[in-house]
Amino acid sequence: MYEFAVTPAVTSIRRRGVEISEVTPGSLGAEMELEPGDRIIKVNGRTVRDYLDFRFQTAGETELVLEVRKKSGDDWELELERAEGEDFGFTFEQIVPRQCANACIFCFCNGNPVDARPSLFIKDEDIRLSFLYGNYTTLTSITEDEMQRIVEQRLSPQYVSVHATDLDVRAYLLGVDKQRADISAKLRRLLDAGIEVHAQVVLCPTINDGNVLKRTIFDLAAEYPRITSVAIVPLGLTRYNTDDRLTKVTPEFCRSVIDQITTIQADLSERLGTNFALLGDEIYLRAGRPIPARKHYGSYPQIEDGVGMVRAFSTEFSKHLSKLKKEGVDQLSKKKGTILTGTLFAPVLRKQIEKLNKQFGATLAVEAVENSYFGGDVSVAGLLTGRDLLSARDRISGEYVAIPKQMLKSDEAIMLDGMLLSDVEKSLGVPVHAVNLAELITLLVNPN
Ligand code: SF4
Repeated sequence: MYEFAVTPAVTSIRRRGVEISEVTPGSLGAEMELEPGDRIIKVNGRTVRDYLDFRFQTAGETELVLEVRKKSGDDWELELERAEGEDFGFTFEQIVPRQCANACIFCFCNGNPVDARPSLFIKDEDIRLSFLYGNYTTLTSITEDEMQRIVEQRLSPQYVSVHATDLDVRAYLLGVDKQRADISAKLRRLLDAGIEVHAQVVLCPTINDGNVLKRTIFDLAAEYPRITSVAIVPLGLTRYNTDDRLTKVTPEFCRSVIDQITTIQADLSERLGTNFALLGDEIYLRAGRPIPARKHYGSYPQIEDGVGMVRAFSTEFSKHLSKLKKEGVDQLSKKKGTILTGTLFAPVLRKQIEKLNKQFGATLAVEAVENSYFGGDVSVAGLLTGRDLLSARDRISGEYVAIPKQMLKSDEAIMLDGMLLSDVEKSLGVPVHAVNLAELITLLVNPN
């Protein structure tokens, strides 16, 4: 499940142009007397729908005519010349995502508690967000305009939820008819235009596993290298998913998938020189099997989808430790603290932290926090809530708590259940630092 810094779209009214949200002082934009709240409507006579259009239509242009609707309501036409590559100094409003027209049986929106924040109910299906952030689209309701835009503006790569190349199965999973489910012509058009595609399969036991999965992988691999990779991630069920067409992913299921895919990967690797089909980390962790080595993942083509994240983390962790050694650091702060993380990743992190404690005399503890907000088999750190953290209060030791940054909204210190980080701190009675790995190390070098 993804949540990006996108404006909730449900209640937004689409307005013309793109709104400027900030102007850097002293920049070209400031010289033009443009201000936050002004909207750029056209560039050289071409309509601007969002900041991607603005970027595309101004790229390489040194002589420009901008049509602007000022915040005051006045219309301005600005003629300007700029040096090649000169930046305007604008920051723009975020993209309002387009909504999907599917009714996927596993849709994450069906797994939300009713009081979850509105942004979690956004069913985005937007080729712009796919290009910008790696969000997946199903291409089922893509318009001709959007197809043309991908090609014209080179919005490559695109991330496509395929789920199954068997049309009956795909239609069933997406809750649409077979005609809509059939994206073969659209996919071909993108590939023929040189757009790179990464595919995804959300693996639902008894529906698109076994031979359906095998066929899906081989059908997609037949388009390699135009289709670069396929990520296979397990269905995630919260306690609110009560659809009885869905079957829970068990450790045993994960083990059988690993066995099946390992054979397929060996075959593809020999023929294509890449594993091509990559399993989500969660499948290995839940199976109790080791995470593959670094080279298994190539250039980590789908890391944002949780494919190779654990390996990348372990590699980065080791690099940080070597760097500390090289810098002559042999002792980190003895100030005791606790890292709170999801149950899935906790054992991996604990192993690394124990290494760090031993080598550098630190005194960090790692505690796994159950997800009671979503329940079910939700075990990733990014979906933990403020209330979940408070329920781990008795297991916190030391003078501070560290949590992975992805527990917070990307642009605000707020948790998924709406609790502010400052409220969590108040309740726990210790400072809570939301950090990535590099920031954690910095915190350990200088805890104050
Ligand atoms: S494509 Fe499917 S899973 Fe994604 S938002 Fe739409 S209904 Fe939900």
